[in-house]
Amino acid sequence: MIFYCQNPVQPKGKLLPNLGTTPPPPPPPPATPDILHNSQGPPNSILIDTFQHQDVNDLGHWHGALEGLTVHHGPGFVRFFPSDPDHNYHTQLSASSCYDLRAYQPSHYLHIVFGGTTKFSIFLNENNAACDFMRNPFPQTSDVVEAVRYSRGNDIYIPLAHFHIDQSRAVSVSFGGFYSLEPLTLYRVEIVPSIPVGFPVPHRMNNGRLMLTCTRPGSFAFGIDDGQPRFAQEVMKILEEERVLVTFFVVGLGLRDRETNFSNVYREMIKRGHQIALHSDTHRKMEGLASTAEIDREIVENIIAFRQILGIETHYFRPPFGTLGARTRQRLANFITEPQVITWSVDIEDWLWADSKTPEKQCEAFFRDVMHGGNLAVMHFLSATTVSYFREVIQFVKRQNMTIMRIDQCLEDPRSPPLKFPIH
Ligand SMILES: [Zn+2]
Repeated sequence: MIFYCQNPVQPKGKLLPNLGTTPPPPPPPPATPDILHNSQGPPNSILIDTFQHQDVNDLGHWHGALEGLTVHHGPGFVRFFPSDPDHNYHTQLSASSCYDLRAYQPSHYLHIVFGGTTKFSIFLNENNAACDFMRNPFPQTSDVVEAVRYSRGNDIYIPLAHFHIDQSRAVSVSFGGFYSLEPLTLYRVEIVPSIPVGFPVPHRMNNGRLMLTCTRPGSFAFGIDDGQPRFAQEVMKILEEERVLVTFFVVGLGLRDRETNFSNVYREMIKRGHQIALHSDTHRKMEGLASTAEIDREIVENIIAFRQILGIETHYFRPPFGTLGARTRQRLANFITEPQVITWSVDIEDWLWADSKTPEKQCEAFFRDVMHGGNLAVMHFLSATTVSYFREVIQFVKRQNMTIMRIDQCLEDPRSPPLKFPIH
């Protein structure tokens, strides 16, 4: 059966792009002006949230749970009952723009008063360059720390300087990456100029960088994850005929499986100039694993499979399901120099539509994300419908005057091969 895309539609209802799989919804208009615009200059501290109201924080901006996290609100607190590392809760610094935190750097701290589990991550999220939640990606990127490393008693103090994002464009603080079923209660989130005497502050741990977009002007990249071996020849043929190079994120388990012939498929992809990058060993939500030893195993076995079966090394990684938290990023940085953690700003949504009665919605999703500014795609070759649309979405990108290349090329990595096709 052949499937066709519909014509590109005018972007209408926007599905917000995401950091992995956790998009904040569009925020309501601000109830109060941002403190940022105070003509007296920035205040010495910022009270972000004391959880007095169900839907807005102390700045008058949206706060709320995403990805199905169960939440109980009370007067002056919010309690989470997490059961998945993708569960998360955002409290926004700015409703629809960028909040400039640079005046608080490097001296200030993010202070959180909490109770319950310390098995979660704390994120500081950066808005896109347009400071516009209607553009892709929103947010642009984030940095993240482990709650347990920064907590004592009921307090968490994190130097703002530990969050390596563009702090002129901060947009929200969020909580996620849960790896315990124990509840977490938050009472207060604020930025303060000092910490109690003797409160221990750990060193910042390396955790690579998280990229959702290409940086090279006019570039576009396909990051293609797990596939079905029976579609591999068709995918290769389309890539060859369209004369484009892409990046494949590949799990170790599939490479070792002699039944699938994946090792030969990816050896051939390498020969043709495509980039092969890490995607864990067994494709689990790594951040939700109970121990760092299990996270390590997912990374190390994937690296070993690449070394032994494909003869390659790479510092590019995409987390299975886009699930991310501090531990996954830190453990990657333990084994890989300068890990490049790649998610996406264009989602073809094959996981949602590929085997539905409306597979053409994959094209709609793809076109919409590109029209909103996305330039780094996620897709799989698991379904006949997705593969049948592949040529059309490639041609759509070309018509937008964007050049399709590997992810390392679109990120201007000096180690990436020159921009030419074929590569050899
Ligand atoms: Zn995957």
